Amino acid sequence: MKQYTQQQILDSFRGATRSEIKKVTFPLDFDDVDFSRLEYYGWRDRKMPRRAYIAVEHDGRLVSLVLNRAEATPSRRTMCTWCRDVDLSEEVVLYTTRRTGAQGRRGDTIGTLVCSGFHCSKHARKLPPAYHKATDLDAIRAEQVAGLRNRVGSFVAEVLSTED
Ligand SMILES: [Zn+2]
Repeated sequence: MKQYTQQQILDSFRGATRSEIKKVTFPLDFDDVDFSRLEYYGWRDRKMPRRAYIAVEHDGRLVSLVLNRAEATPSRRTMCTWCRDVDLSEEVVLYTTRRTGAQGRRGDTIGTLVCSGFHCSKHARKLPPAYHKATDLDAIRAEQVAGLRNRVGSFVAEVLSTED
């Protein structure tokens, strides 16, 4: 991703109410975030325990969404839908977001099982624990990163598909 300011992110929210956007709190380490190593930027709101957000470059522009963490945690350890990290090194939880447009105003949501702290980009850059000398590690990593980008992209596309 390109580097973004908090204001640019705030301006890019879709399907969120004005009061939701007004309550967004950024992490204290926001200035240290290296967007160039991220396929999406996600963070939890430190003032609202169940509230989280993602910012993603979608069709050439930044799109941000408000997420809510579901009350129930998955009963067994589950793989993240976006990074598919096989080590399960991060807790995976169900996040939901309101659909855009009339469906969203009626209360329709879309849910996805994602790493609770949004470290998918880091997981996607991990290499397999064992590999042959001839293995093209850069290719493996590029494939994992591309897979992550595509899966986050389809989620955002689905959310935006009902926009007025
Ligand atoms: Zn993940």
